[in-house]
Amino acid sequence: MIAQFRRFHVKTQIVFGRDAIHSLGELASELGAKACLLLADKALEETGVLDKARGILRDSGVRITEFLGTEPEPYLDNADAAAQLGRDGQVELVIGMGGGSVMDTAKAAAALIRNGGHAADYVGLNLVPGPGLPTIMVPTTAGTGSEVTFTAVFTNRQTKAKGGINSPRLFPDRALVDPELTLSLPPAITAATGMDALTHAIESYTSRSSAVFTEALSLAAIRLISRHLRRAVFHGNDGEAREGMLMGSLLGGMGLADAGVGAAHALAYPLGGHYRIPHGLANAVLIPHVMKFNLPAAEEKFAMIARSMGEAVEGLPPGLAGSLAVEAVARLSRDIGIPHSLNELDIPRSDIPILVEGALKVTRPVENNPRFMGAKEAEAIFERAFG
Ligand code: NAD
Repeated sequence: MIAQFRRFHVKTQIVFGRDAIHSLGELASELGAKACLLLADKALEETGVLDKARGILRDSGVRITEFLGTEPEPYLDNADAAAQLGRDGQVELVIGMGGGSVMDTAKAAAALIRNGGHAADYVGLNLVPGPGLPTIMVPTTAGTGSEVTFTAVFTNRQTKAKGGINSPRLFPDRALVDPELTLSLPPAITAATGMDALTHAIESYTSRSSAVFTEALSLAAIRLISRHLRRAVFHGNDGEAREGMLMGSLLGGMGLADAGVGAAHALAYPLGGHYRIPHGLANAVLIPHVMKFNLPAAEEKFAMIARSMGEAVEGLPPGLAGSLAVEAVARLSRDIGIPHSLNELDIPRSDIPILVEGALKVTRPVENNPRFMGAKEAEAIFERAFG
């Protein structure tokens, strides 16, 4: 009976604001934990943020087992190793403090500690059999929105295939979202992760599965990101810009969790799996090309995106207004130094058939894309993205 109704899942309690990190101990105690597995990004060691988190947890009487071994664009075995450490440490809570790579590994580890097995067993949809340990996610990039999604994305070290563990069991219990933690992000990572957040918002809004919840969340995300991304890249210490970006990526993540993403993600996955191109960068290069392809199938929505990005669309027919969204995204991307072409990423053009094959295996984003994309269409988009 319930299957025929639309579901919107609300689970994660979000604590948002500058210096919110100080509530980490309180949140751990709320979740009844005396021992935690803390996964963190090694980059946070240098910024002092990791030390701060350790101190806060210890002051709250929480014992810490630490895992700093997550690789960027993580492999499935990173989650297995983290889970083993957590089991050995008899932890009751998992905290993921970092970008999407660390948060995804933390979410999967929490599921593995309670459910057993290997991360590879759970790649797919709804394959996690029971609840995992409680989790707190603390994003340090403004990009993935993983702190509020039910997804954890990994690459298989052997096959190089990239895929997600997608299960409501992975929704975090708490998202501790503190813009101060993103002040240390260098401009290039700010740019690529910010474009990733924008891609989530655009693709969830234009997804075939999009509905009223998605529209509210994703359009707000588009507004925030397009207003703040240039400032965050060029003035990294601008707290207001960092706050706007982190709220934008959070809302984009909620939109993504509700309606999924589209062709840019499907085309980006093999770039990550085969060439280790960072997810944000792959999406950033592809999204203007994918938008151009999708425009005829979603003119009204593209017109709304243009409006949300501050373009003057008043009185224009939807197709023309929509084309302003494509131009605005391409301009933003260029302004913040994102390469326009896959050539600039040193990917051989002759690999297009491998890329097409990989992209079409990412079935859900392909199905959600507003315009049909088969092999011929995927090849044409790649051709254009090579410039
Ligand atoms: P990332 O986590 O790989 O981090 C990128 C780089 O930024 C790393 O070198 C890291 O050390 C550094 N870094 C992180 N925070 C920093 C800080 N505050 N200061 C300085 N350096 C910092 O990048 P990401 O884009 O956040 O995450 C990418 C991963 O997330 C990919 O595996 C992608 O597939 C996945 N992803 C997941 C979801 C989801 O819903 N779960 C959504 C989108 C992407």
